[in-house]
Amino acid sequence: MDSPNIQMKSIATVTQEADRFAAQLADQLRDDPWNRFQGMPSDGDSREAYEALGRGGWIGLHWPETIGGHGLTAAHTDAVEERFGYHWLPLCSYLLGVKTIGNAILRFASAELTERILPEVTAGRIVFCQGFSEPGAGSDLASLRTRAVKRTGGYLVSGHKIWTSSAQMADWIYLAVRTDPDAIRPHRGLSVLLCRMDTPGIQVREFPTLGGGLLCEVWLDEVFVPEDQLVGDQNGGWQVLMGTLDFERVTSEKVGVVARVVDELEAVAERAEHRSELRTVRGELDAARELGREASRHLMQGLPASGVSSMCKLSVALLCKRVSRLGMDVLGAEALIDGGVHDGIAGKVAALRRATVGATIAGGASEIQRRVIARRSLGLASYRA
Ligand SMILES: Cc1cc2nc3c(=O)[nH]c(=O)nc-3n(C[C@H](O)[C@H](O)[C@H](O)COP(=O)(O)OP(=O)(O)OC[C@H]3O[C@@H](n4cnc5c(N)ncnc54)[C@H](O)[C@@H]3O)c2cc1C
Repeated sequence: MDSPNIQMKSIATVTQEADRFAAQLADQLRDDPWNRFQGMPSDGDSREAYEALGRGGWIGLHWPETIGGHGLTAAHTDAVEERFGYHWLPLCSYLLGVKTIGNAILRFASAELTERILPEVTAGRIVFCQGFSEPGAGSDLASLRTRAVKRTGGYLVSGHKIWTSSAQMADWIYLAVRTDPDAIRPHRGLSVLLCRMDTPGIQVREFPTLGGGLLCEVWLDEVFVPEDQLVGDQNGGWQVLMGTLDFERVTSEKVGVVARVVDELEAVAERAEHRSELRTVRGELDAARELGREASRHLMQGLPASGVSSMCKLSVALLCKRVSRLGMDVLGAEALIDGGVHDGIAGKVAALRRATVGATIAGGASEIQRRVIARRSLGLASYRA
């Protein structure tokens, strides 16, 4: 990006620059067999793309300049992420390491840890993965069992994480651990640690997904994590974890994906009912985009954001499903030919159809989003999905 720090550029200007950058990068990556079948940007992973984002100055747009950011606003970031999604860039590492974990480090970590880690993230040199889920702890995250036992100068961590995106290429893991097994309530005994993936005792096993990407299992066997890599307070991890998920659930890149598919379907849809449905979807897309903006405003002002972040996440994930079904209706059997996402609209619809299965689960299942919205936004404290 040209001279980002001189003055606050308009969102329109930055968006145009993002468009040019993303189109060029997508072109560069189009023959990469690994990216060809990515269901949507959150399924695709590419160190090359991540480093290009860092070199181009696209990481940390609204972060302070002292840590390598560009001092713009979260609204700039949302608009740019939407364009990255529109161009179907492989974004998994970015969405985890920057949008989710990077923002959470900025919010919750000590100044020393922030200054040590985030300049490396903005430069595109550190890829993070997120170790929250476990075989017995997904929706019920508070029941996680990975233990961190205090030792001189740090913690010894042992446990088993599952569904860990990007672990196969990550440099660091953002780990949810149990530091107090005797806490009165399970969520009171949790903490968050940053751990290097090359620390002795870590093993990763990867497996392919329907979305075309990879997920991993991560085993930790007495892994030593220095105490200055604790994020927030010991046993204060629940607040950090919930705050981290609020960032994760603002899914502007998926707004871009839906916008792309709607644009391309409008160019080929002939039947009146399809054209009418496409107009409806476009309206709902505008609403989803506004929810994302509202969630970002809450997050940047330090206001409670869980309800509106969940509204954004739920609305976009459902819209992804709906538009992929609509694409199938419009294109008919052609949409079953999975020729790759850069191979016209049929390839995109086929890929999206596969990927939307995970979209309503990753980052928290839809039932859980409805429960968060009911409890946090509607005041229905006893609501159960
Ligand atoms: C593509 C993808 C990427 C992922 N990446 C990561 C990652 O990088 N890091 C990470 O830590 N995790 C990751 N996950 C895991 C994801 O966060 C969990 O899959 C999700 O939270 C659901 O947990 P679970 O799979 O254990 O399902 P469960 O919690 O067992 O849920 C199964 C079903 O029961 C429903 N359910 C559960 N509890 C309730 C309730 N109280 N009320 C009503 N219904 C309920 C759920 O909605 C769901 O439909 C990823 C998942 C996917 C699909």
